Amino acid sequence: MPPALIVQKYGGTSIATVDRIQQVARYIRSTIQPPTQVIVVVSAMGSFTDEWVEAAAHLHPDPPRREMDMLLTAGERMTAALLAMALEKEGLHAISFTGSQIGILTDATHGNAKIHRILGDRIRKSLESNRIVVVAGFQGVDPQTKEVTTLGRGGSDLTAVALAATLRADRCEIYKDVEGIYTADPRVIPKAQHIPRLSWEAACTLSGSGAQVLHDRAANMACKYEIPIHIRSSLAPTQPGTLIEGHSTTMETPHFIALTDKKDQIYLDLLLTFSPGAASIQPLYEWLCNRGDTPLLWNLQKKGLQSELQVTLSAFHSQAYLDFLVAHCQQVLQKSSLPLHILSLVGRGFSQNHPLLDTITSLLGENLLLLEMQQGVMHIGVKSEAATVCIQQLHEGFFV
Ligand code: ADP
Ligand code: ASP
Ligand code: MG
Repeated sequence: MPPALIVQKYGGTSIATVDRIQQVARYIRSTIQPPTQVIVVVSAMGSFTDEWVEAAAHLHPDPPRREMDMLLTAGERMTAALLAMALEKEGLHAISFTGSQIGILTDATHGNAKIHRILGDRIRKSLESNRIVVVAGFQGVDPQTKEVTTLGRGGSDLTAVALAATLRADRCEIYKDVEGIYTADPRVIPKAQHIPRLSWEAACTLSGSGAQVLHDRAANMACKYEIPIHIRSSLAPTQPGTLIEGHSTTMETPHFIALTDKKDQIYLDLLLTFSPGAASIQPLYEWLCNRGDTPLLWNLQKKGLQSELQVTLSAFHSQAYLDFLVAHCQQVLQKSSLPLHILSLVGRGFSQNHPLLDTITSLLGENLLLLEMQQGVMHIGVKSEAATVCIQQLHEGFFV
């Protein structure tokens, strides 16, 4: 039997200081016994990425995306080297790598690159020579241009899951500053309840609806390759955490899993026309996706005959993109926008539950602006200024 392989990922808070890096190295030494092999994926320390995004904005209103990737990948590289040093000090053999050194091959989209594949040979060789492999998260390389790319904000979670899938790891542990996933963000709702287990599908819906705790592309990749993920606290590693594993079973009775929220959204209702063979919706959609901010809801309805290609499009999207749409989308005929906060109730079996709408309406009263039901999630638009009260009311109504 080959030795067990564990992928661990430590987020920015877990390795925010040199002391925290040392603690992580000690934790690894005390919990991983040879011949178990370990790959450790790290984020940049603390708020490194935010600070350098801000610094760049002082120099240029829209910094070249290639240069942003050159800048931001440095954060993860620094942490990886520091952790490798700390592990050596603990008497363990370790080696750090950038995404490009271990062949995380991506497309060319600076700032939100997609992973095409990972060449695992260099990692395998290092593991076989009994090294702990420390990988700088959130980055890869475009094999055509040899340019360094980043995977989008929060992308180190994705690096960890992608490595676990490629190297067929036995476990993927993601260490955060919370003791797992809760029924709402525990920093916003102190009464939020701990969720010990979640299906892959529920994790995808939850992260896709704005719960920051797990990167949504990481959740989708875990679901696709059936990688169990254990979300744990680096500050309290003996706590049980949340295990994301298994597929959802549809239940007859409604089942509420969690409440997530997304700030600064707008509801766009656009009417677009395309002359046959000319512009299409695709470049616009690609532009939005490549900025790393996929609309929460994106419905296209084709009106009229195929040749007319008249489309109405509804989307929840962040306020920041409204200007882009207006400036770049020549075909906009109508637009209505409304600033709102989207709360998403994640669960199953909503459509069989008639009192649900009444409950939401009476809980939120005049703060409720719109409701949109989909498989496994109900998006609830509320007035931005009343968002905190609305989250509390909904959490109280469905989870307490
Ligand atoms: P890291 O940077 O370590 O990857 P993040 O800061 O991205 O970690 O994610 C952890 C944060 O996610 C927590 O501090 C918490 O405030 C937030 N969060 C949002 N929704 C939830 C939820 N439902 N359960 C747990 N944490 C949540
Ligand atoms: N450092 C990057 C960010 O802050 C990636 C990550 O932390 O996962 O977005
Ligand atoms: Mg994160």
